Formats: sequence, structure tokens, C-alpha cells
Amino acid sequence: MGAVEIKVDLIHKPQNLLDVIYTACKTCYSAKLPKEIFDEAPDDEKKLSLISKVVSSGHYSTIEHIQLTFAVSNVSRALTHQLVRHRHMSFSQKSQRYVKEKGEIDYVIPQKIAANPELNKKFEDFMALVAKQYQEFTEAGIPAEDARAILPNATASSLTVSLNLRELIHFANLRLCTRAQLEIRTLAKLMCKAVIAEEPWLAVHLVPKCERLGYCDEDKCCGRMKTKEEVLAGKA
Ligand SMILES: Cc1cc2nc3c(=O)[nH]c(=O)nc-3n(C[C@H](O)[C@H](O)[C@H](O)COP(=O)(O)OP(=O)(O)OC[C@H]3O[C@@H](n4cnc5c(N)ncnc54)[C@H](O)[C@@H]3O)c2cc1C
Repeated sequence: MGAVEIKVDLIHKPQNLLDVIYTACKTCYSAKLPKEIFDEAPDDEKKLSLISKVVSSGHYSTIEHIQLTFAVSNVSRALTHQLVRHRHMSFSQKSQRYVKEKGEIDYVIPQKIAANPELNKKFEDFMALVAKQYQEFTEAGIPAEDARAILPNATASSLTVSLNLRELIHFANLRLCTRAQLEIRTLAKLMCKAVIAEEPWLAVHLVPKCERLGYCDEDKCCGRMKTKEEVLAGKA
């Protein structure tokens, strides 16, 4: 196939997500048993009214009960290396040991290179050369786990990724920030978009961290928000 485009699908979300979060929130403030709260849960508007207050105040354990699963394809190994740094996510990734590449190798071209036809062509030529060499190794009986040593960061991969809602918000806060690399920022955007399509109330939480903090805490600020120092100076 050669150059590929990222694909993200939300493949699991609890159907009764609001009931579960509502029960978790209300359990903290009610004399009733959690099961009674769950069984007597009010309409969505009332549930959301409590949930919004509790989550906005940072009482995040209440949303750890919600597990989400995404099918992610056509991302680079560079991206997956960044993604697996998130320790509260669970991953099942396509193995380069057990899955032997055949013919052309799928890869992700960074946007800035793809935008330049001459450099894009050089990138494609280089990947074709890598594929040819990989093929030669495997045809000579070298196992995929050793032949993969020559595969670059751009090589496409796919994963099933699960995480709870608290971790998704944390991930969004970090990886929607313009300081994050474009490819993982795109992944974060697509994951958030898929969740917001089903749960629009989460849009205010699935934002870059500056929107949550009210200032930018990055060393190199993109200018979207005032820096922490500017905000503190304004208060002095
Ligand atoms: C723009 C950007 C640039 C980066 N550049 C680099 C880089 O140059 N080099 C590099 O190595 N990494 C880099 N990283 C990765 C970064 O250091 C984190 O490893 C990654 O973002 C995961 O964040 P996290 O630890 O907050 O998330 P998670 O692992 O998802 O953890 C979520 C939260 O749980 C808590 N937590 C989890 N584990 C522990 C623990 N063991 N102890 C205490 N608290 C814990 C923390 O509060 C943490 O914020 C970069 C990340 C970003 C967003």
C-alpha cells in the first residue's frame, strides 16, 4: 500500500455511561446505597447537572469507572512509542515479530515532508528501498523479528487501545496542546471527536491543558493563552 492515513474508531463505550458516573458521584453525597442510587437515577439532564459539577471540581475518581476502547490504524511507530508512555492505557499492538511485512511496507509520511513533492518522492523512494531490503532478508530465512531492525520510525502500525475517561481527559490535555507532535495531536483529536460525537457534554473537558488551567504552562507558548507568569503578574 505504501503511504497510509490514520484511522480511529471508538469500538467500546458503556451504554449506561451517565448512570454509572452519576452513581459514582451521588454515592459520595447520599445516605442511599449505590445500587439504590443506580436504580433511581433521574433523567439525563439531572444526571448531567450533578456530573458536570463534580467533574469540573476535579473529583476525577468518578470517571475512572468508564472504560473506552479505540481501534487505531495507520499510525507510525514513532507515534506508538509516544503513546505507550501513557501508563494508564492498555495496548495490544500489531507485532513486528509475528506479522511479516510482504511487498510494499505501509508507512506514514510526516505532513511537512508530504507537502513538498520533491522530498515526498525521496521519502517514498527510501521506503521502497527499505521494503526491498527487508524482503531480501526474510527471503533469506531471517526471521521477521530480526529483519524488522531496518524498519524506520515511519513504519505503520495498528493498535487496540483502552483507557478510562479520566485518562482520556489527561491525554487530551497533553496531546491536543500544540507542543505535541502533529501526528499524535491528530490521533488525540480523532479520539476526542469520536467520544464527543456520542457524549457532547465531554467537549469542555477534552481540550488542551491551557483551556483547563486558564493559562499556558509550557516553556514555549504558542500564544493561544497567556503564560502562567503573565497571569500571575496581572494579579500582583
Ligand atoms: C509535548 C510533549 C513532549 C514530550 N517530550 C518528551 C521527551 O522529550 N522525552 C521523554 O522521555 N518524554 C517526553 N514526553 C512524554 C512525557 O514525559 C510523558 O511520559 C507522557 O506525556 C505521559 O504523560 P503522563 O506521565 O502524565 O501520563 P500517564 O502515564 O498517562 O499518567 C497520568 C498521570 O498519572 C500519574 N502517574 C502515572 N504514573 C506515575 C508514577 N509512576 N508516579 C507518580 N505519578 C504517576 C501522573 O500524575 C500522570 O500525569 C513528552 C510529552 C509531551 C506531551
